[in-house]
Amino acid sequence: MSVLDDNIQKAQGYMAAFRDSGVLNHIDGETVAAISGETMETISPVDGSTLAPVAKSDAGDIDRAVAAAKAAFPLWSKTPGAERRKILIKVAEAIEARAEEIAFTECMDTGQALRFMSKAALRGAANFRFFADQAPSAEDGDVTRTPTQMNTTSRRPIGPVGVITPWNTPFMLSTWKIAPALAAGCTVVHKPAEFSPMTAKLLVEIAEGAGLPKGVLNVVNGLGETAGKRLTEHPDIKAIAFVGESRTGSMIMKQGADTLKRVHFELGGKNPVIVFEDADMERAVDAATFMIYSLNGERCTSSSRLLVHESIYDDFTAKVAAVAKTIKVGHPLDPETVVGPLIHPVHEGKVLSYFDKARAAGATIAAGGEKVGEAGCFVTPTLFTGATNDMDIAQEEIFGPVLTAIPFKDDEDALAIANDTQYGLAAYVWTQDLDRAMWMTDNLDAGMMWVNSENIRHLPAPFGGVKASGIGRDGGDWSFDFYMETVNVSFPRAHHKIPKLGG
Ligand code: NAD
Repeated sequence: MSVLDDNIQKAQGYMAAFRDSGVLNHIDGETVAAISGETMETISPVDGSTLAPVAKSDAGDIDRAVAAAKAAFPLWSKTPGAERRKILIKVAEAIEARAEEIAFTECMDTGQALRFMSKAALRGAANFRFFADQAPSAEDGDVTRTPTQMNTTSRRPIGPVGVITPWNTPFMLSTWKIAPALAAGCTVVHKPAEFSPMTAKLLVEIAEGAGLPKGVLNVVNGLGETAGKRLTEHPDIKAIAFVGESRTGSMIMKQGADTLKRVHFELGGKNPVIVFEDADMERAVDAATFMIYSLNGERCTSSSRLLVHESIYDDFTAKVAAVAKTIKVGHPLDPETVVGPLIHPVHEGKVLSYFDKARAAGATIAAGGEKVGEAGCFVTPTLFTGATNDMDIAQEEIFGPVLTAIPFKDDEDALAIANDTQYGLAAYVWTQDLDRAMWMTDNLDAGMMWVNSENIRHLPAPFGGVKASGIGRDGGDWSFDFYMETVNVSFPRAHHKIPKLGG
């Protein structure tokens, strides 16, 4: 039996549990169907078959979950940070113990390749550990003094919060939001993406099995425009942490306006990788191809625009095309697979439409540009050359294994092209010249920049974007600032003169 056959057999075992019980909601420690009894389906991107029925919830289900999160808040928010830390470390350990099940489930539900997803559960566990360790000091603040007053700041959890996540790497992304919220003392209602809801069910079960009290984390499945919308409008939800498309972020901001919702948005990107003529070509090719063809290109920080100095453009893009043509497209559970099927036929249709748009705009398809096979949502790793930055393929987030290469003349031209987009999430700069790297990173519109490197995440560092790519930062203490309110208490240091008014 091949490794792939063996993996498929294991995955069938994991999937059977979902098929039998469905992906229901989890509210106040109980697994419950939507009040309406309605379901939708999550499908396999490998062949379009139904993986499991999923609760199709609406406003009433959200109200129930918010009530549970509100009821659990007083106890959880007053649980000492050291105690919360212990529980969250146990959650991390329990995630690690079920890493294979999480990875296989994620591959089947999203189409992401196992070679990347095998680390997703471990990264999720790392998120829990990192934020757990900060729980004991999360309330701490500063002391500032004047001759008459002593001001002490401290932080307190903001209240029950809503977490709304996308479909691309749902387990890792949801732990990024949920772990700091819980560490801060907030309770959570999580609305996972309708295309890939399975691992959210595993996470809440694992967390409660590890000792998280009931009602502290609740999961409600359903459509964005019904369940998601109600969560963003609910008066008892104090903040919304959202990861998804920029236009959804804009809708959420409007929906949350009446209740003055605090929002944290991690949105789309059209991130440039800028390769100067003095770059280490081999490393730059490896990094550029890794950042667009790993995770199916369904990655917010993907290097989806390749800006190359005109003197090395032909040579560099030929090397990228050669890599793209040798990448294995296949079953997500095959350990050799780099690019698995895209999440859903609807998304596949969107990605395929850019192959026609590229041709119509006059760009060249130097690699890929095709659907693979009849069944499933497989597309070839693709490179467009001869593109200009005004084309749709250079401006719109394709969110697939599709790279658009554009030549530039000099540093000013590279910067102008890089910044000529509505987005500003990440940028990658390849040069041996320190002054040039400094000038570029000082002037690029991006929340995160890497010099001579692919994206390497460091949890204490801030993660987030500028312009249409987001509001707020994750990581380090930035996460706690979002999930907590800073309050100031002023004490008198001495009797001071208080103004007397009137008689
Ligand atoms: P999406 O915006 O369509 O959906 C994300 C979530 O929002 C889903 O759970 C959906 O049900 C919900 N939603 C939709 N409409 C809603 C509404 N009116 N009110 C409340 N909730 C609503 O995004 P997607 O297609 O699932 O994910 C892909 C997008 O996510 C890409 O743009 C990608 O760049 C972005 N993303 C960003 C980051 C980041 O860190 N910046 C990370 C991963 C993905």
